[in-house]
Amino acid sequence: MHSKLLLLFILLLSSCSPKFTDMIEYPSFEDYPVYEGNDLGLQYTPKAATFKIWAPSATQVLLRLYEQSVGGTAEKKVRLIRIANGVWTTTLKGDQQGKYYTFQTEVNGKWGQEVPDPYVKAVGVNGKRGHIIDLTATNPKGWETDKRPSLKSFTDIIVYELHTRDLSMHDNSGIKNKGKFLGLTEQNTKNQAGLSTGLDHIKELGVTHIHLLPSYDFMSVDESRPEDNEFNWGYDPQNYNVPEGSYSTNPDDGGVRIKEFKQMVQALHKKGLRVILDVVYNHTGETEGSNFNQLVPGYYYRQNKEGGFSDASACGNETASDRAMMRKFIVESVKYWVEEYHLDGFRFDLMGIHDIETMNQVAAAVQEIDPSIFVYGEGWTGGDSPLVEEKRALKKYTYKLKGIAAFSDDMRDGVKGNVFGPMETGFASGKQEVEESVKFGIVAATKHSQVNYEKVNYSNESWAAEPSQCINYVSCHDNHTLWDRLINSQPDITEEERIKMHLLANTIVLTAQGVPFLHAGVEMLRTKDGEENSYKSPDSINRLDWSRKTKYKAVFDYYQALIQLRKNHPAFRMPTNKEIQEHLTFLDFESGGLVGYIIEGNANGDAWKDIVVLFNGKQEVQTAIIPKGNWTIALKGNQIKETGLGKITIEQGDVLEIPASAAMILYKI
Ligand code: CA
Repeated sequence: MHSKLLLLFILLLSSCSPKFTDMIEYPSFEDYPVYEGNDLGLQYTPKAATFKIWAPSATQVLLRLYEQSVGGTAEKKVRLIRIANGVWTTTLKGDQQGKYYTFQTEVNGKWGQEVPDPYVKAVGVNGKRGHIIDLTATNPKGWETDKRPSLKSFTDIIVYELHTRDLSMHDNSGIKNKGKFLGLTEQNTKNQAGLSTGLDHIKELGVTHIHLLPSYDFMSVDESRPEDNEFNWGYDPQNYNVPEGSYSTNPDDGGVRIKEFKQMVQALHKKGLRVILDVVYNHTGETEGSNFNQLVPGYYYRQNKEGGFSDASACGNETASDRAMMRKFIVESVKYWVEEYHLDGFRFDLMGIHDIETMNQVAAAVQEIDPSIFVYGEGWTGGDSPLVEEKRALKKYTYKLKGIAAFSDDMRDGVKGNVFGPMETGFASGKQEVEESVKFGIVAATKHSQVNYEKVNYSNESWAAEPSQCINYVSCHDNHTLWDRLINSQPDITEEERIKMHLLANTIVLTAQGVPFLHAGVEMLRTKDGEENSYKSPDSINRLDWSRKTKYKAVFDYYQALIQLRKNHPAFRMPTNKEIQEHLTFLDFESGGLVGYIIEGNANGDAWKDIVVLFNGKQEVQTAIIPKGNWTIALKGNQIKETGLGKITIEQGDVLEIPASAAMILYKI
């Protein structure tokens, strides 16, 4: 056929499709049609494979099928048909299992690159092509009876933030599946001294939730070269609805990583641990070349005044959660992880880039499936955004975010010093005039009449409506480990003194109201040898060194006992701001470096009637006046014994001595 005739034929054929005339130009991205269905991507059965792609600005969409995950030539090229609302579709009859596939769109006369669609659920090595698999075949044995461990209240959560590789990469981890999801399924693993490592160690420590650093498919690690032992945190998303291939034993087979991720979740659930995924919907690793941008140029991203990509993530782009199809993508993606992978929570990276409405829809969607699914995020951005400030899911608007928590940098930096000043000290390392920031953290950033908000480091009012909306922490994967920060900021003290500060810092966190959060390895004084930003540092910097559990066994024992104390005493986990206001009273101290409070009246059903908690951040003994009566000491410095380390009677005029850089907890039954 003559080429001009062919073109005419195609145009005639295409014009039979609805809305053909709308499809090339829209006045703005907001005018793009919205698809309401929940069947985008691949619908597979052994009888047929149906593909649906949303690409309203495309004039042609091609599907290619391959035998291989990379390379080779397409064995089949199929032109998709445009149906309503910007959706293109095709159905291939017969069992297509095992084939790899890509899409390519033509927009404004220009063909994009071949990419998987954003909704892709299984991919081959390095996520370049989708993989047609039978998802039901990826369920491990017993998956249908997998259940999330019970959780009464969000304030009962204790989060442990972990990178999959870090847990197992050290020779002394005793774990066989090094750097893999399966490493988290191994039991009875030990270090050289016979102490538990890996999964057993986490269980022994007593935390309730494991928060995994990005474990969806990210770009930075070459999955085809496991021998290179590349390390990356993974904040460079590629395929949102697919697990990362380098953490699987076979990244080329799309089903393997899915099955192994599920095996991990199943093993953790069996141990009574819930699983949280760190999700990075705020930007994509690639900008121009991302799946989103190749299929629908520009739409999924915010633009700056010049029309280029705006960059509130400081990673080259920021997604536009306020646009209908991006919002829909995020909401459906988290729901998918809950339903397919049985996840129990999500940590939103740079949540402040997302709009409040989207975050509320995310929480509502997952909490409709199970109200105990926990959602939290970083209530800030990495740079300015075109999204108006009032719409951003920022920390200061946390009270508007229903069922969502934010990280308290107020508490973090109050206790250990500003993260941007690596030599800075905080309350636990001897700094004074930060007491109000610590108090702010103790009441979980909620309203309390005794907090002087004008003196809080970053917030001049409460931002959490309820304590479950505040994540209290002093360290995470970002910045120096707590131990390294103490080495930097207090270089001239002894190791023993530094350990006291370390324990004090997390004693403040683990006795505070709200949701405590621990950086993996903090319980054995984790160090990264002073490396501040280890996002692509080698395993030698990032991995957990299990010999430190032996060397600092007393530190581990303390953390374990402290976590147990929190779990045994609901007074530290009050679920409402009202109860905090009713039961928690700060003690009035004249001197700096001293914070104390009393929780009275068997708060939240606690067996202890009254509890006094004291923190002395000064590097010298301080005295404090506490209420009269017969008190049992449950915690003093590095000692914890809930049945009592000793008793003390306080009468009129008595003062209590609190050791240097230490906490004390006393109670009355
Ligand atoms: Ca990857």
